[in-house]
Amino acid sequence: MTERMLQFTHLPQQTPPKREVAERRADFDEIYKRFDVQSAKAQSSRCSQCGIPFCSIHCPLSNNIPDWLKLTAEGRLEEAYEISAATNTFPEICGRICPQDRLCEGNCVIEKGFESVTIGAVERYITDTAFENGWVKPIAPAAERTESIGIIGAGPAGLAAAEALRSRGYQVTVYDRHDRVGGLLIYGIPGFKLEKEIVLRRWKWLADGGIEFVLDADIGETTSFAELRSRHSAILIATGVYKPREIAGPGAGLPGIVPALSYLITSNRQGLGDDVPDFDSGLLNAEGKRVVVIGGGDTAMDCVRTAIRQNAKSVTCLYRRDRQNMPGSLREVANAEDEGVVFTWLAAPEAFLGDNHVTGVRAICMHLGLPDASGRMSVDPIAGSSFTVEADLVIKALGFDPEDVPAAFNEPDLRLTGWGTLKVDPKTFMTSLPGVFAAGDIVRGASLVVWAIRDGREAAAAMHEYIQAQQFAQAAE
Ligand code: FAD
Ligand code: SF4
Ligand code: SF4
Repeated sequence: MTERMLQFTHLPQQTPPKREVAERRADFDEIYKRFDVQSAKAQSSRCSQCGIPFCSIHCPLSNNIPDWLKLTAEGRLEEAYEISAATNTFPEICGRICPQDRLCEGNCVIEKGFESVTIGAVERYITDTAFENGWVKPIAPAAERTESIGIIGAGPAGLAAAEALRSRGYQVTVYDRHDRVGGLLIYGIPGFKLEKEIVLRRWKWLADGGIEFVLDADIGETTSFAELRSRHSAILIATGVYKPREIAGPGAGLPGIVPALSYLITSNRQGLGDDVPDFDSGLLNAEGKRVVVIGGGDTAMDCVRTAIRQNAKSVTCLYRRDRQNMPGSLREVANAEDEGVVFTWLAAPEAFLGDNHVTGVRAICMHLGLPDASGRMSVDPIAGSSFTVEADLVIKALGFDPEDVPAAFNEPDLRLTGWGTLKVDPKTFMTSLPGVFAAGDIVRGASLVVWAIRDGREAAAAMHEYIQAQQFAQAAE
């Protein structure tokens, strides 16, 4: 059947259609439409079925990409879904929000000269189709086990682990301080990248499979960590990283300067129909305002595009490096530019202007210097190059550090790395406390959804081994 494949020589790359800018600026719906059946088949058939597939090697989940592309090209979608779901807990989510240009697609061999296979869009298409056709069945363990597992954090790491443990028959309870499941998938990432229904659909699927969710449960506050340990055979900490990096300089504390995640959570809650006083009061609402976003990562991109959709008067992104050296996805920068965001590259804030409320940002031009030990170029200010950008709302999106988990959990024996993330044994995912494991951003630092899924799946496998080993040891006594 390989004659159906290798079509890249005459079939050009086609991405799913994007909605018109004017239309997408007016709502929070996803900007990419879905492939139709013919496009999905045709685009999948461009794959050359590499013997050593670099796409898979560079996918953190080692997805069997050539196999599901071939099955899609042949119209065998249910089988494609089975293969895709075998390695990825949430393929339709990764298909939407992975930075494919840096992962699978960026390493597709066809990229060199013919443009890569549109792997992410096909991955999304397969699982969306599977949901519509009822092929996605609730988790059904072959046999129930009596041991219970407590998972702290309902983000992608916690949820991927929950699915993998429940599939092995464990009684799984997931605790989260929020009132909805999804972590940053529900309250961080805006709907124009990942519609909320996609996350809510997975929540229902997990609950239908027998996973219990205890929400509005802030571990360390409403329930003690010690209490949780006494309830469960093992614990997984998957709490993510949430401490915003602060900005320094005169005026940095002025009203009107807000943290990115507060702004995004407010917008996402408003979109979900919640009562959000900070949105209604205008505190965290960009409507009619001149907005300046500081930062160059995914969070900054989500803020600028949210502000556009809230009818900001103008939206400027200040970033101290240039386009090539920004951490955010270049695809998202292009989308933001299309939607009307102004990027001021190589500029860093020096001071925030205003008396009772911010009125502007004084910034200084930067130039790139020599790379440091990590390979990143240094950035230095250019003397005398200061300029002012007027602003009514300044959003700080400089990244996140881990909160102090040992203090929050009143557990001083929980050891940390030099970066403040939880220290785990890289093979077993176990922390310094026996039976307590950790996965996702709280271990690796702010990262990607696909890595959180991988960590959650691998931690679940390690937890299973740990519990089995405990049982063998007890039986041997
Ligand atoms: P999280 O998703 O942060 O989930 C942690 C959960 O733990 C949360 O629900 C939190 O409420 C809960 N929690 C924390 N402390 C407690 C406690 N004490 N008690 C109970 N519950 C607790 N990645 C991509 O791949 N693509 C993107 O496009 C992308 N965009 C992003 C946009 C933004 C704005 C941000 C902030 C991140 C983005 N990321 C993106 C990164 C990605 O969202 C994270 O890497 C991923 O969500 C990490 O998963 P996690 O499960 O480790 O943590
Ligand atoms: Fe690519 Fe992400 Fe899917 Fe892997 S999970 S194939 S990196 S889109
Ligand atoms: Fe197909 Fe590209 Fe992967 Fe090769 S690298 S198997 S052509 S998707």
